[in-house]
Amino acid sequence: MTRAAGEDEARRPVVAVVGGGYTGAVVAYSLARRLPPGSARILVIEPRAEIGRGLAYSSLDPSHRINVPAARMSVSSEDPGDFFAWVKSNGVVAEDPESQVPTGEVFPRRQVFGSYIAARLAPFLASGAAEHLRGAVARVAPEGEGWRLDLADGREIRADFVVLAASHPRPAVPGPLRAVASSPKLRADPYDLSWLAEVDPQERVLIVGSGLTSADLVASLDARGHKGEILVVSRRGFRSRGHAFGAGAAPFDRLEFDTASASALLRSVRRHVRETVAAGHRWQHVLDVVRTQGGEIWRALTPEARRRVARHLRVAWDVHRFRIAPQPEAVIARREAEGSLRYEAAALVGSAEEGGRLIVNLRPRRGAEVRRESFDRVLVTTGPAHDRIGEGNPALGGLIAAGLIGLDPNGLGLLTAPAGEALRPDGAPQPGLYVAGPLARGAAGELMGLPEVTRHAEGVAGLLSARLGGKAAAPALSVG
Ligand SMILES: Cc1cc2nc3c(=O)[nH]c(=O)nc-3n(C[C@H](O)[C@H](O)[C@H](O)COP(=O)(O)OP(=O)(O)OC[C@H]3O[C@@H](n4cnc5c(N)ncnc54)[C@H](O)[C@@H]3O)c2cc1C
Repeated sequence: MTRAAGEDEARRPVVAVVGGGYTGAVVAYSLARRLPPGSARILVIEPRAEIGRGLAYSSLDPSHRINVPAARMSVSSEDPGDFFAWVKSNGVVAEDPESQVPTGEVFPRRQVFGSYIAARLAPFLASGAAEHLRGAVARVAPEGEGWRLDLADGREIRADFVVLAASHPRPAVPGPLRAVASSPKLRADPYDLSWLAEVDPQERVLIVGSGLTSADLVASLDARGHKGEILVVSRRGFRSRGHAFGAGAAPFDRLEFDTASASALLRSVRRHVRETVAAGHRWQHVLDVVRTQGGEIWRALTPEARRRVARHLRVAWDVHRFRIAPQPEAVIARREAEGSLRYEAAALVGSAEEGGRLIVNLRPRRGAEVRRESFDRVLVTTGPAHDRIGEGNPALGGLIAAGLIGLDPNGLGLLTAPAGEALRPDGAPQPGLYVAGPLARGAAGELMGLPEVTRHAEGVAGLLSARLGGKAAAPALSVG
């Protein structure tokens, strides 16, 4: 029991952060910097060996790079150049010359960003201002005026405040592939790359999903000497777009968008794109402004308009907003030119395993004819199953089942107030419980990319700090 460690200890309030990926790390970092030393215990409960890496920055594959230039990623929104300064002082480009593209931007490997977070947290962990409790939370339940957390290994923690930062759930196997779900040739978890070592260079591979993870896997296969055919299918045929380096500064800081409905919003975005491109600028400038005004736009939409945006526009938004790093983009361009990589808009309609190969039935988007295709391997990159966050995560599942927290009606995580307080299913605040990072996306709108996650986690740290008597002002509480 964490708080039974002694008289003084018993008087120190405890903040328990469930999940020590990037979000949990920023909550701890930001809170530790605000609180007077020794005034509270900050416990980050995370099964991985290091906090800060989470799903995104644990990848050891050298082909997996950050998709935003280093100059735009930082653990602190007060110091946006911090990661870039660290990259320079740690000789990242000298060690990995490919990380720098001809226009000068640097895209380090994702594991490097994880090392940077670890370096920034190290002094706080060493001083005890923040603690990493290695383990998984199996249950969170109210007890007295606070919370009790049961860890999977039997340990118990009493906390005054709990922050839920366990963002990305396991990916789900798409329905049409369930018939082959147990086949070792189907990889439903794209973040587990153990299969790469056994790939034959001539294998015919199907990648389901055409976002950034799909691009990562094409780069991983290519780097391993894979030459066989890769078919990438997605329902609508969208694919992640590249950056617009060398395109000059955006000609505007703000734009007006029509938020009367989802289609009005789409029309106004398209109009701005047309006008911007006609004026000689790039579409990326418009999408960047949509992103910075994202929280404001989201809050202005009616619940029905939000539902339609989440349902009909999210995929299109994701592929335009999450840009592919130039290195995997170049691999994709080369493989397409060589004819060994093809993208297709098609729906999966069934699957079977025959003679050691996976048979997948595909229905092309334009045409009713179902086609039978055979592959050596099928990789699913449709992303974490955010609409099923309770399943497979007992800490969240138990809170949801007990009616202590609500689910976002649009499948965008947990019901949360915009600043990060967890809400019950009826919309009332759940005292002492907070949600940080992508799980709060339903309230924030856009909350997946690093700068937004940083600001949101800092905002939650600001709320906690105010409750604990530290520096309350969050550097930037508003999200989006
Ligand atoms: C593959 C990938 C690449 C990305 N690349 C970029 C990029 O280059 N640039 C950018 O701006 N954004 C990027 N993003 C987006 C963004 O940076 C991430 O979404 C962000 O890192 C979110 O981190 P997180 O801590 O909220 O979630 P996660 O990474 O999911 O971390 C949550 C942590 O919680 C832990 N956890 C879960 N359940 C429990 C439990 N019950 N008890 C204890 N611990 C638990 C998990 O072990 C995990 O470490 C990427 C996202 C992904 C998925």
